Amino acid sequence: MIVVLKPDADCEKRDQLIGWLRGMGLDVHISTGRFQTVLGLIGDTASVDMDLIGSLEMVDSVKRVSETFKRCNRKFHPEDTVVSVGNKKIGGGSFCMIAGPCSVESEEQIVSIAKAVKAAGADILRGGAFKPRTSPYDFQGLKEEGLRLLKTARDETGLPIVTEILSVSDLELFTDIDVLQVGARNMQNFDLLKELGHLNKPVLLKRGLANTLKELLMSAEYIMANGNEQVILCERGIRTYSDYLRNTLDLSAVPMLHELSHLPVIVDPSHATGMARMVPPMAMAAAACGCDGLIIEVHNDPPHALCDGAQSLKPSDYEKLAGKISAVREAAS
Ligand code: PEP
Ligand code: MN
Repeated sequence: MIVVLKPDADCEKRDQLIGWLRGMGLDVHISTGRFQTVLGLIGDTASVDMDLIGSLEMVDSVKRVSETFKRCNRKFHPEDTVVSVGNKKIGGGSFCMIAGPCSVESEEQIVSIAKAVKAAGADILRGGAFKPRTSPYDFQGLKEEGLRLLKTARDETGLPIVTEILSVSDLELFTDIDVLQVGARNMQNFDLLKELGHLNKPVLLKRGLANTLKELLMSAEYIMANGNEQVILCERGIRTYSDYLRNTLDLSAVPMLHELSHLPVIVDPSHATGMARMVPPMAMAAAACGCDGLIIEVHNDPPHALCDGAQSLKPSDYEKLAGKISAVREAAS
């Protein structure tokens, strides 16, 4: 249930109302926007007298929220959430370019790519240290050493870093990482989501290969229900019967997620297509449909990459694409 307050609502009366609602065992989520304050009520609202609340002088309207996702629901928080990563903001009109290799392979590799993507205007460096591979015989990432090398690249360039966490048991290794990524395969690892909910740092949550938008939002809800509201949603392609591409990039998810939720939505055209030459057109399409950022795989030597070389752009191609993305955004605004 949401209670929308009138713009001139008295603060003391508002606090009394919140106290009364909490006294009924409800969790009250307060969203203070530029134009209105919305109280989101979570819990058993069946016995709440809507008419009584609606009759209060300071209340503008009272509505039931039928969706099972509450905290990430736009009805609970009408304005866009803006997630800050260092000086960079994501969402609410602020666009973010994340770029880097699939996996951290060596100091030379990650530092050179970090410098190249920074020169091309990237805001955040990506790089996997713990890799979720389909085959146990494939490169599994440099793990702790990979995290250390990411931090070296951050020191060298000033770019914040995002990297995937696979397991709750690794959490303490990620203390000094700027953004924690939950990969597609872990989107419904509820124990991990709950733990990330206790942190005070951004989480990049990727949509699972075969998950619906509602399931993605419910996973965001797991993180937010534990207190961490800094969630960035990511559409990275889903499994369909498309045969020539790694996945199908569901771009209609972007405007739909924006309608359903206040969280920023970014797009990963690299994992969605699996082919470097498909990345620029899909990245431009994503920018045109209003996403809040892109995460793109870039490698200095794609043919010899230890993971996902086929979908990785060379730094020079990334730079060209970054210019086109700015032009598309301008044209679409
Ligand atoms: C990744 O970004 O490195 C990755 C493994 O992506 P996804 O979880 O979307 O497959
Ligand atoms: Mn990859």
